Amino acid sequence: MSEKYLISLDEGTTSARAVVFDRSMSIVSMAQKEFTQIFPQAGWVEHDAMEIFAGQISVLSEAIAKLGIGLRDVAAIGITNQRETTVVWDKNTGIPVYNAIVWQCRRTADYCEMIKGTELADYIHVNTGLVADAYFSATKIKWILDNVEGAREKAEHGDLLFGTIDTWLLWRLTDGRSHLTDETNASRTMLYNIRTHSWDERLCREFGIPMSMLPGVQASGSDFGYFEGDGVRVPICGIAGDQQSSLFGHGCFDRGSVKNTYGTGCFMLANTGSEPVMSNNGLVTTCAAAMDGEHKYALEGSVFTGGAVIQWLRDELKIIEHAGDTEPLAQSISDTAGVYVVPAFTGLGAPYWNMYARGMIIGLTRGAGRAHICRAALEAIAYQSDDVLNTMVRDIGFTPEEMKVDGGAAANGFLMQFQSDISGIRLARPRVLETTAAGAAMLAGLTCGYFRSASELTAMDRTDRVFSPTMDRARAADMVKMWHKAVSRSLDWIEK
Ligand code: ADP
Repeated sequence: MSEKYLISLDEGTTSARAVVFDRSMSIVSMAQKEFTQIFPQAGWVEHDAMEIFAGQISVLSEAIAKLGIGLRDVAAIGITNQRETTVVWDKNTGIPVYNAIVWQCRRTADYCEMIKGTELADYIHVNTGLVADAYFSATKIKWILDNVEGAREKAEHGDLLFGTIDTWLLWRLTDGRSHLTDETNASRTMLYNIRTHSWDERLCREFGIPMSMLPGVQASGSDFGYFEGDGVRVPICGIAGDQQSSLFGHGCFDRGSVKNTYGTGCFMLANTGSEPVMSNNGLVTTCAAAMDGEHKYALEGSVFTGGAVIQWLRDELKIIEHAGDTEPLAQSISDTAGVYVVPAFTGLGAPYWNMYARGMIIGLTRGAGRAHICRAALEAIAYQSDDVLNTMVRDIGFTPEEMKVDGGAAANGFLMQFQSDISGIRLARPRVLETTAAGAAMLAGLTCGYFRSASELTAMDRTDRVFSPTMDRARAADMVKMWHKAVSRSLDWIEK
């Protein structure tokens, strides 16, 4: 029998990628294509869903061709995607009625503000696990139906379909045979009831969304249909939103396992097992990827400005040339000499939830220089993640022993060691930082029988480096105390 491979279609916010994995979950081929970011006005973000699909197909072909294999050598396809981004299309023509409205888009923020503090907001929190926000899909669908000419009539007539990006790609890849999504993506729409595992009738009514538009919802590891090409049918049998796919890709299958992704922002997810844990501190409860017949949940918290503060040092302050320059600079000094950077560029999330906070550098003395600021910026990424971790620990009631890490900034050894020191937790960094792509491939591989069991996957040790805390806990506590003092000075900076 010739060797077979798994393919992950990893459709992110800025690019579409296809990643080919072999049986040891090593990457053997990869192709990537960026797509256009459309900003029709301040705060609005859109993508062209047709461009995304075309890009995804072209990288799929390219990744296969690079390896010199054909579709017959592919055991299964998994899909992972930017979450919440909303596509509405005509099922008769297959053409979207409007551009995809991207998760970052704030066009429905005022409408969501009106919901906050009402009984509906409580209902949303209890039943969807989310907080009423423009980020999630529901109000984006409503906007399309309210603003695109003829859309509401067509939707009510049953001619329009809604999908997050996974659903859109799946529908296209299966030539319209499958209008489905998985629980992780459904749980980011603000229309899915994570307790009953079904679309919530009341929420669909409140937002005026005909339920006929909504895709069927399945487990992340289940049969979603097939992609046909070159005379072969390749099963598509793994789908998960990017953060949940990363959690699964790290092998965080069990309750209590935690991962943090250090990208532009930071996304921390803790697997809470088969019971949803509701946060008293503003974190969201979401579905974690699970195999058919199971339901798993995660608690999620994010840092708005993570690696982005390093981009700011590079692009605005111009005190570094490459993000990686921060590591030797930080290590060239023994501490920040009391300098703290609070990167509250767009306000602060959990546990502060202060949209009026703004960025700040504090504690400057005459000797403070570039290295101190760079080190303080890296430390700020860790302090913010530590704040989210502590919030999570309060909500879940126990402290995990280890946190898995990935994302571009996880390459920074100084940052990882500092995180471990400050949080007093072991960090495990995998060899392959493509855990998001790996998760969808693993889900597909488990569903189609390419892997016999999850234990076969956990047995593969993919850890590259472990960072263990070395800092004296009293010193760590003092540093965190000063961080909190710095944060307190940044809160409510702009006038409401
Ligand atoms: P995203 O998926 O959000 O686009 P990535 O996971 O690709 O993000 O990570 C990119 C981010 O990581 C950028 O914000 C960049 O500044 C940061 N970054 C990349 N390399 C390093 C490094 N060596 N040290 C610190 N930050 C880094």
